[in-house]
Amino acid sequence: MQQWLSKLKWKIQNFMQGRYGFDELSMALYYGAVVLLVINIFADSGLINTLCWFFMLSSIFRICSRNFAARRRELSLYYKYSAGPKAWIQQHIIRFRERKNYSYFKCKCGTTLRVPKGRGKIKITCPNCKEQIIRNS
Ligand SMILES: [Zn+2]
Repeated sequence: MQQWLSKLKWKIQNFMQGRYGFDELSMALYYGAVVLLVINIFADSGLINTLCWFFMLSSIFRICSRNFAARRRELSLYYKYSAGPKAWIQQHIIRFRERKNYSYFKCKCGTTLRVPKGRGKIKITCPNCKEQIIRNS
């Protein structure tokens, strides 16, 4: 058994020699496929099933690919387009954690202002445009 496992390990290592391997995009595609698979248990949709297969096969394709330049280009595009949504999600996680201690307001200029809760009516000055707003914290 031990020898069979080491033989299998050697065969896999030999197969992966010179191939691209795992990166963040491959893992995102893989996890996306798993999430879609779980959703499809309840939804039982052909479209979700197709998407799940597409995600899984493209993840395997990227891992086994020998075209490093194309995979790196895809990875840089992934970083470029996923940075905004990741930051948005992170910001909302932080807001949720601090919801008992801080209130958030949006200024006319688009800046989000964080003020301590429970201080009554306060005057908030935007550090960006110096606009003053009066709100209940
Ligand atoms: Zn402002």
